[in-house]
Amino acid sequence: MSDTKNKTRVVRRCSFCERTEDEVNFLIPNESGTAYICDDCLAAGNEIVKEALRTADAYKDRQEVAEIRKGLKKPQEIKEVLDQYVIGQEKAKIALSVAVYNHYKRLLYLREPNPDPKKKKKDPEVEIQKSNVLLLGPTGVGKTYLARTLAQILNVPFAIADATTLTQAGYVGEDVENILLRLIQAADFDIEKAETGIIYIDEIDKISRKSENPSITRDVSGEGVQQALLKILEGPLANVPPNGGRKHPEARALQIRTDNILFICGGAFDGLEQIIEQRKGNSQIGFSGTVMKKQEKKDVGLFEGVEPHDIVKYGLIPELVGRLPVLVTLDDLDAEALVRILKEPKNALTRQYQDLFKFDGIRLTFEDDALQEMARMAIERNIGARGLRSIMENLLIGPMFECPSVPGIEEIRITLPYVKGEIDKPVIVVKDKTA
Ligand code: ADP
Repeated sequence: MSDTKNKTRVVRRCSFCERTEDEVNFLIPNESGTAYICDDCLAAGNEIVKEALRTADAYKDRQEVAEIRKGLKKPQEIKEVLDQYVIGQEKAKIALSVAVYNHYKRLLYLREPNPDPKKKKKDPEVEIQKSNVLLLGPTGVGKTYLARTLAQILNVPFAIADATTLTQAGYVGEDVENILLRLIQAADFDIEKAETGIIYIDEIDKISRKSENPSITRDVSGEGVQQALLKILEGPLANVPPNGGRKHPEARALQIRTDNILFICGGAFDGLEQIIEQRKGNSQIGFSGTVMKKQEKKDVGLFEGVEPHDIVKYGLIPELVGRLPVLVTLDDLDAEALVRILKEPKNALTRQYQDLFKFDGIRLTFEDDALQEMARMAIERNIGARGLRSIMENLLIGPMFECPSVPGIEEIRITLPYVKGEIDKPVIVVKDKTA
């Protein structure tokens, strides 16, 4: 009986090395049982696949780094493009162009592929720190606009958040991680792309600690929000609920590295000039003769000579200030700058409305003194260039409503008396029918 059994036994072999099942630890059959692979061949195959993937990854990394390197603009090139959109703010444009260039250089440095993938990549001798930026300047002078334009120039995802709507975990309001979610959304859920993006956090001065800052009315939870922000600024990793986390806490979190995201924070820092002056020993007490009036300070820059500990005194925690090493001050915009803002940028307001009227075959023109009057009105409102759009809209709402229905209009001219309200219609030039 045992003899017959031995005769019918089929000898199974590894289809690669041809050893029998007695010569190996085990054989794994394919689905139909017609071929086998032994444990040794399987392990060897695994190694081959790993090596091939490593080479492919290194190749992909090299390609990506070469791609980024090719697209990386030099500081002067960045500033030249900024100049086409942002009027004035020379110091800020230079500082930001350099900060952004350094940021992406650092990123390339970190991503430079390992020349020998078999060895561990050497830790860099010099650790280049991240150049997050703090923009200080009054409302409406271009802080957000600069950050947004930078992201466009660099073609990286951009997200914007208002620090006053943020809250520490567990409180009513927006979780700090939501900013990261917005960045991921801006990158079409390509996490790797989002990890090289830019986040602008506005009104950072409004979350300062109440105790050190007399002008702030906010409650003490400002510090909690600062701590939460610090966590994402420090990195390296953050977990982001994919839908904001409040409705479906069970949803799987997205993981994102935040250590290569460029953070730009901005704030008006009302009253900071007094802290700077006090430090410089120019406070009114005892030195009244040297104190500059606010208008004079505006001419040299309100926050000229600001140092990190002034910001700490203002009420931001030292750890957060330490994470924002590039301090950039923006100047108030005078009437001349506001007129230029109306006329010169690629997407200047006058150009935008001219295009709207062109659609109806109407030429829209502005007399110089009319533009100057609009700038003066904006200064009166004390909200920088922000006031210009509503002033323009108010002036043009009537013509935009009526003129498309009136045939034969060639030109609408916005004049000083119209801006001042001395006449209730702009000058309208109709086509000469006899011509
Ligand atoms: P803030 O400094 O408060 O962040 P914004 O950047 O939001 O001000 O400015 C509001 C708007 O005013 C911008 O969207 C832009 O159209 C215009 N603006 C402000 N400053 C400038 C500037 N320096 N050059 C050109 N446009 C500007």
